[in-house]
Amino acid sequence: MSQTLAIHGGPPVREKPLPANYPGALLMGQEEADAASSVIYAQSPFRFYGESLLYKTEQLEEMMARDLGIPYVLGVTSCTAALVVAMKALGIGYGDKVIVPAVTFIATAGAVISANAVPVFVDVDESMNLDPADLERVMDEDVKAIIAVPLLGAPCDMDPIMAFARKHHLHVIEDVAQSCGVSYKGKPQGAIGDIGVYSFQMNKMLTAGEGGAVATSNMEWFERAVRYHDQGSFRKRLQEKHGLTSDHAEQAFAGQNYRMSEITAAVLVEQWKKLDRVLKPMKASYLRIVESLQERLPGLKLRPSRDIDGDLGANIGMLFETADEAEHFAAALVAERIDCRKLYGGKTVYQFPQILNMRSAERDGFPFNYPFNRSVHYAEGLCPRAEDLLQRMIFVSISPLLTTQDEADIIEGITKVYSGLYTQEMRG
Ligand SMILES: *Cc1c(COP(=O)(O)O)cnc(C)c1O
Repeated sequence: MSQTLAIHGGPPVREKPLPANYPGALLMGQEEADAASSVIYAQSPFRFYGESLLYKTEQLEEMMARDLGIPYVLGVTSCTAALVVAMKALGIGYGDKVIVPAVTFIATAGAVISANAVPVFVDVDESMNLDPADLERVMDEDVKAIIAVPLLGAPCDMDPIMAFARKHHLHVIEDVAQSCGVSYKGKPQGAIGDIGVYSFQMNKMLTAGEGGAVATSNMEWFERAVRYHDQGSFRKRLQEKHGLTSDHAEQAFAGQNYRMSEITAAVLVEQWKKLDRVLKPMKASYLRIVESLQERLPGLKLRPSRDIDGDLGANIGMLFETADEAEHFAAALVAERIDCRKLYGGKTVYQFPQILNMRSAERDGFPFNYPFNRSVHYAEGLCPRAEDLLQRMIFVSISPLLTTQDEADIIEGITKVYSGLYTQEMRG
């Protein structure tokens, strides 16, 4: 006997919504408050000088470098900034194309355009991450880099991506914005490609509201990243800290200001210490829920992972036969008070108007006006699998704060809706 679905007027599985999807923010407390006020009481909110500078930004960079197992990390203002800094560090700019997965947050593509290059899109596979088998399709001599994006906590298939990049002499940037802590075959993502970039915006694993970081093992790219993020300069203190010497007159080039504030860094140092407290319960909840779902609903198709050991388990992706089924399922589950959603409103990056219409802030269409040998254009149908999967996959996010009851509710909600929709409606 199945219960009446809430969407059909029955009682919902729960009354209260699940914890909001702000993992780091929900663990904020006294530690972050004390750290931020220590910077304020020290009257030294700028990373390079002040009355009694606490060097919080350096501390964050050291902690990240240690945990990623690489020598160089640079704090910046956001991941969008970090992406631009990474491309400038690698010498990517006007006349270059950069490979971006069709499914990612729009910032990945926007940053390419801000760096004066042009994004070209590759399709995704059922993991919702870049499909290495589609890379060849977009290759030409103008392509200089691949941005691999581990989406919603799930690792990218890095081995074939790195092999392809090495074969074609492409750089690899890992945009780890959504997946701080994710790893592939035992190695943290962000330390596998040439440069890794991180976000500390509110929706990400850890947060100070805003913030970002650039990580690399290459000294030259690090120097260029530092210079680009700080108006072309590479301050003595940072040079000495890393045992580098650089001639300013020879090496300086025009840059931006993407420097991290000490207040941001102070909060992030405390957040970084809590990374395990975010990731461990999240993964444990994910594994328990998935195990139970697989037992109860052998027909339910879940988003596959390219490396379940390194996967954060931050989301449960459910794949349906048709867009209609996914739509019905999502509406019914929301009515049970289990929040779920399609990704990015069901759109690939190139379906957003600013990308589809190739609109930069410039009057003359720069940087899209470059006379590429193989011209770039975006249109519906460009990455058919991404377009299809986005309509058929829905996601329930897993908070680090789920109680046993919350987990049981998620399992019950999905089971109830699945059984209700499939037995009552779809099959009879
Ligand atoms: C959030 C996000 C960004 C942008 O991060 P900000 O810190 O907000 O600039 C970039 N890439 C991906 C994949 C993201 O999810």
